[in-house]
Amino acid sequence: MFNYQNQDKIFPACPICGGTQFRQLASNDRYDMGIKTTGCLRCGLVQTRPRLTSQSMSHFYRECYRQYYQAVNAPHVDYIICYHKDERLAYTAKLIASNVDLVAGMRVLDVGCAEGTLFSNLKTHCGEGLIFFGVEPSESYAAYSREMTGCTTYQNIDELISAREDSFHLIVVNHVLEHVNDPVLFLEQLRGLLSSNGLLFVDVPNVFGYSSPRDLHIAHNFHFSRQTLTAAIDKAGFSVKTIAEHAPPHHPVSVWCLAEKRTTKLHILQQSMETELVAWKRMQWINKLIPLYLLKVRLRRNRIVSLILENRCRVFLTGLKRKKH
Ligand SMILES: [Zn+2]
Repeated sequence: MFNYQNQDKIFPACPICGGTQFRQLASNDRYDMGIKTTGCLRCGLVQTRPRLTSQSMSHFYRECYRQYYQAVNAPHVDYIICYHKDERLAYTAKLIASNVDLVAGMRVLDVGCAEGTLFSNLKTHCGEGLIFFGVEPSESYAAYSREMTGCTTYQNIDELISAREDSFHLIVVNHVLEHVNDPVLFLEQLRGLLSSNGLLFVDVPNVFGYSSPRDLHIAHNFHFSRQTLTAAIDKAGFSVKTIAEHAPPHHPVSVWCLAEKRTTKLHILQQSMETELVAWKRMQWINKLIPLYLLKVRLRRNRIVSLILENRCRVFLTGLKRKKH
């Protein structure tokens, strides 16, 4: 188990606007860790505050993330089917292929490639011609993706930069941006890895579609909307080419975006909190549901434990009866 309360935490400024004033919108989360969700009073970006230090976050991703999130430490075929990853990533690959001209020889980087299911699905659109690279902190997932797709993997972005891997034609950030400690800094790093005419594909959960305490948890530091995602991408030195809301299968309602490098670094903040107020109200409403949700989870867990105990007692008593005879 991961002890959230004992971890080192920081109180950073808003990554989009540099604001330091926030309104608390929720005081707990789906795992009952006491995570606080706030809205920036300047640009409206919804974010966890305080946040874990990067060391604590790395420890969480290395040791605990997969167990909390999908209860699986090492991937296998059943896991891919059970978690609908094949269906989900087939959808994402089709979305990318319909909006990006995929040609043989292109260098494609998937940041957070997990078990490499996106690569397998991109192959169905472009054959064996694409050259795949993945960033994946979990070694068992990275090993699986290398074995299944022949990709090259790195544990993190810094390792990728040290290996002088750059000039990617397409960088995919699929349900990853909401996890990082500073999304603008993260996108700026990726900008440096993109070829001059390269494209960035980003997909994130849409905060305007949140409906349950399950939407708030330790792994998601940021909760974007169409507007705040545009502002983050713009600040990192990209121009948004296409942005749209969508409903990927077996995933939350999301916002996807395709962006290209902007030639000038000039950035003028045009985002204000007013556009996010409906999402804030939704978050405050979810916060009221959290105690009821956690009670339901506890009751269900107790019911499962009592069923297991009941079953063990029955097996034990049957064994005793057999011995007597
Ligand atoms: Zn802000």
